[in-house]
Amino acid sequence: MRVDVVSSENLSFQYNHSEVLSDITFRISEGDYVAIAGPNGSGKTTLIKVVLGFYRPSKGGIFLFGERPHLFKDWQKIGYLPQKSSTLNPHFPVTVWEVVSMGLLSRKKGGDISRADENEAIEKALEYMDIKDLKKRLLGELSGGQQQRVLIARAIVGEPELLILDEPTTALDPDTRDRFFNVLSEMNSKKTTVIIVTHDVGTIGKYASKLFYLDKKMVFYGSFEAFCVSREMADYFGEYSQHVICHRHDTAKPSFTL
Ligand code: ADP
Repeated sequence: MRVDVVSSENLSFQYNHSEVLSDITFRISEGDYVAIAGPNGSGKTTLIKVVLGFYRPSKGGIFLFGERPHLFKDWQKIGYLPQKSSTLNPHFPVTVWEVVSMGLLSRKKGGDISRADENEAIEKALEYMDIKDLKKRLLGELSGGQQQRVLIARAIVGEPELLILDEPTTALDPDTRDRFFNVLSEMNSKKTTVIIVTHDVGTIGKYASKLFYLDKKMVFYGSFEAFCVSREMADYFGEYSQHVICHRHDTAKPSFTL
């Protein structure tokens, strides 16, 4: 049976009486690869923060591996890449190796990883993101794109069961972006559930299997295939935009004779 990795029931959230998430119900199952998209200010980052227990819902419920996030303890199951601007003090004297090793902290605290396994996992994550040659460098000396690769390596180093990435590709050059998406697909094929917040709705359908389109309310949640043939979404976005978002052009073609 597929496990619910994240689920919500009639979830609402307010900042100072202003409702940002409204009556949202969804389930994300083990092995899903979900793209959360929507306009600026539509509540994407807020939703992630509610999922991770930074904020509690104003109404309704949210569950992480079946547990309320503020009671959840198995944080080693989760890799998280926050939106870039919120994470980094460039003057903090920490090396690339040390930053990536932070992604293993909760497993180290639990005593369930040996030094040799730790080193191997870090080397592998550095290799994945093609930053092995940077491992002794200070984070603050690197370019924005290199720093982003380091933070992605930190999020994936523990081979988490759930990977949550908030706008991960903004600072990446096209080659690194492709490499990154290949890594995500490989992890997803080995059962890592992926949730990726993106504004890039024209691209993400190449990679993700489900689309969660948010505009304070849940406008759409389902497979890209279902999105492509939805009459309601054609009315909402217009058929051209639906087609651009769709990214299942071949399979969807017959339904565009609607
Ligand atoms: P998105 O990630 O889709 O761009 P956000 O979740 O960041 O949207 O923001 C949703 C809305 O909540 C926006 O109107 C934003 O201005 C507001 N908002 C975000 N963070 C805060 C906060 N800490 N306090 C008050 N309002 C906030």
